[in-house]
Amino acid sequence: MAKKTEDRCSFCGRRRSETEILISGIDGLICEQCVQQAQEIVKEEVKSKNKPNKTELKLKKPIEIKALLDEYVIGQDEAKSVLSVAVYNHYKRINYNLINKTEDDVEIEKSNILLVGETGTGKTLMARTIARMLDVPFCIADATVLTEAGYVGEDVENVLVRLLQAADYDVDAAEKGIVFIDEIDKIARKSDNPSITRDVSGEGVQQALLKLLEGSVANVPPQGGRKHPEQKMIQVNTKNILFICGGAFDGVDKKIANRLNTHIIGYNKKGIDKIDNSNLLQYISPQDIRSYGLIPEIVGRLPMLTYMHPLTKDTLKRILVEPKNSLSKQFHKLFEMDGINIQFTEEAYDYIVDKAIEFKLGARGLRTIVEAILTEAMFTLPSKTRVKKLIVDGKYARTQLEKTNLAKLQAM
Ligand code: ADP
Repeated sequence: MAKKTEDRCSFCGRRRSETEILISGIDGLICEQCVQQAQEIVKEEVKSKNKPNKTELKLKKPIEIKALLDEYVIGQDEAKSVLSVAVYNHYKRINYNLINKTEDDVEIEKSNILLVGETGTGKTLMARTIARMLDVPFCIADATVLTEAGYVGEDVENVLVRLLQAADYDVDAAEKGIVFIDEIDKIARKSDNPSITRDVSGEGVQQALLKLLEGSVANVPPQGGRKHPEQKMIQVNTKNILFICGGAFDGVDKKIANRLNTHIIGYNKKGIDKIDNSNLLQYISPQDIRSYGLIPEIVGRLPMLTYMHPLTKDTLKRILVEPKNSLSKQFHKLFEMDGINIQFTEEAYDYIVDKAIEFKLGARGLRTIVEAILTEAMFTLPSKTRVKKLIVDGKYARTQLEKTNLAKLQAM
C-alpha cells in the first residue's frame, strides 16, 4: 500500500506542517507566503502597465504653460514667458530626439535657464510650479553647500541624488527631470567680485557644475554623501535634464548701470531710450553675469537669461489673495473645517503687507504674520461651537500681532 505523503505548496514546496494555511486548487496547493508574493508581483505589474507612456512627454504650448503659471505666481510676466518657452522647447527637443532620428538630422541642444532676482520673489515657486504641471521629477539644490570633490561639503553629483529620490530611483524618469539650483551666484569667482568671501574653490565647483549643465554621465552615490569605493554608483545622464538656476546676484545692478552708463544721467549711451532705474535687472545680459564671476562656459550653458521684479506692496497684496493656493484661501479652508467663516478686510490685508515690508520678510513673511495674527483664534475657536464667523479687520490684526514676539522684530 502506498504511504500517504504530506501535502506541499506547489509553488515553494513547503510542507503543510511548515505553513499557516495551504489553499487547494484544482490541481495544486498554494501557501500563504506564496499568495502574498504573488500579490506583490501583480501589484508591480499593474503599476508598470498603468504608467503613462514614458517615451513621449505630454507637451503643453507656451501660452498654456504661462496660463498655468499665472494661477500660482503673481506678476513676473517676462520671466514666465521665457520659462514657458524654455520648457516647451526642452520637452519638444526630448520628444524629437526620441523619434527615430537619422544621422544627418539636426541635433537640438538644450537651453538651461538662469533666473536673476532678489530672494523671495518667486524663483523657486516658478520652477516648482512648472515641475508639478509637467509631472516630472523635480528637486531643489542649494549651490552654497556644493564644493569640489575632496573638500568638506557636498559633491556636485549630490544634486542628482535628490532628483533620483524624487523619481523613486527610476533613472529613466530622473533623466528627464528638472533641477532647480538656488543661489548659483554664491559660487561666483572671488577675484572679480570683492563682496564674495569665498575662496577660489568657487571656480572648481563651477567646473564640476558645468559638466552637469552641458550633459554628461554622472556617477551618483544612491544614498548621497561622499563617494566610497565600495558604494555602488548609479549612472545618470544629464543630457536631458533641465537645469533652472536662480540667484540674487547682489550688486549686479551696479555692473549693469556701469555698462549702460546710466547711473548719472538716466539715459543710455545713445540717449534714445529712457532707462527705468527702478529695476535695472531687466537690462541684465550674459556679460554682467560673467563680470560677476561666473565662468564664461557656465554663462554659455545658461542661455535663457531672465529676471524677476522686486515685490511691491501691490504685488504682495495680490500674493495674499489671488494665487490658487493663496494664504487667504488656505486659512479660509482651515477655519471652514471647524464650521467658521473667516473674512479679512482690505484694511487687514494692508496691515499684513505693511508689516511684511517693515520686517523685511518679503512674501515669505506673509505666512508668518498671518499665522501670528490667527494663532489665538485657531487655539480657542474650535472649542467654541457657537462661533460661526470671524472677521479679521485692521484693529484685530494689529492687536493680535502686538501680543506676539513677532512684533519685537520691529525693534531690530
Ligand atoms: P525665491 O526662490 O525667489 O527666493 P520663493 O519662490 O521661494 O522665492 O518665494 C518664497 C515664497 O514667497 C513662496 O513660497 C511664495 O509663497 C511667495 N511668493 C514669492 N513671490 C511670489 C509671486 N510672484 N507670486 C506668488 N507667490 C510668491
